[in-house]
Amino acid sequence: MTNMSKTALVTGGSRGIGRAIALALAEVADKVAIFYAGNQAAAEDTVKALEARGAQALAIQCDVSDETAVKAAVNQVREAFGPVHILVNNAGITKDGLTLRMSAADFEKVVSVNLNGAFHMISACYRDLMKAGWGRILNISSVSGLMGNPGQANYAAAKAGMIGLTKTIARELASRGVTVNAICPGFIETDMTASMNQETLDQAVKNVPLGRLGTAQDIASAAGFLCSDQANYITGAVLQVDGGMYM
Ligand code: NDP
Repeated sequence: MTNMSKTALVTGGSRGIGRAIALALAEVADKVAIFYAGNQAAAEDTVKALEARGAQALAIQCDVSDETAVKAAVNQVREAFGPVHILVNNAGITKDGLTLRMSAADFEKVVSVNLNGAFHMISACYRDLMKAGWGRILNISSVSGLMGNPGQANYAAAKAGMIGLTKTIARELASRGVTVNAICPGFIETDMTASMNQETLDQAVKNVPLGRLGTAQDIASAAGFLCSDQANYITGAVLQVDGGMYM
């Protein structure tokens, strides 16, 4: 479907990994929409960067954990750009704490944004993807979802859930030409990891065979590939992009 006009939608596209993925998708889609939580200035900056790459771009504030808001925002994208062909579920948050001290509210909040958010997005785009006969869904999970991580019961559970979601939707949509994959980033330099103390980060790097933190571009390169025609025969895959941390 190389010559087809395509619309890509990236949640959490205002900053970090999501922004880098949105920019990478400007290579495979001519229209790119991003959803963000509240950082309008960053979202507008991503839109400008997308337009500079020749894509039509749109940013919409939308809390992915809110099913009604997701439906309305996806409709806005559909009205502006037509049906979504490439969906990247990247929006995510952490609320770390050892389980002994983790409130049910903090557990539910993280699951609600990371996992329920991906489900709401997939549901809102599902029919269009089914009809188009070509499509991509990419879920940004985490090595925490594969390995577990002390202090991240909520986040690891949500990210592991995204892997089950990925494989199920991959099986449901395979006959429609829609591939569904997950990327599990390791430690990536973004605002999310900037709040971690240096000692924890130094310790993390010691467990990375490639000996460094990852960059948002490291994830975006893999995402661009999985969302392209080059990855036509890859579905239900869980790709670690983690410098070898989990092997
Ligand atoms: P950042 O904290 O840098 O950016 C988070 C992005 O998600 C922002 O665009 C933010 O919008 C958006 N967002 C947050 N909550 C919501 C919400 N409820 N609805 C819509 N958008 C929301 O995160 P990263 O770039 O580091 O992470 C991106 C993804 O990669 C996440 O899913 C994360 O779990 C995953 N990941 C990251 C790793 C890392 O080391 N950084 C490692 C493994 C996985 P706004 O700008 O408006 O706040």
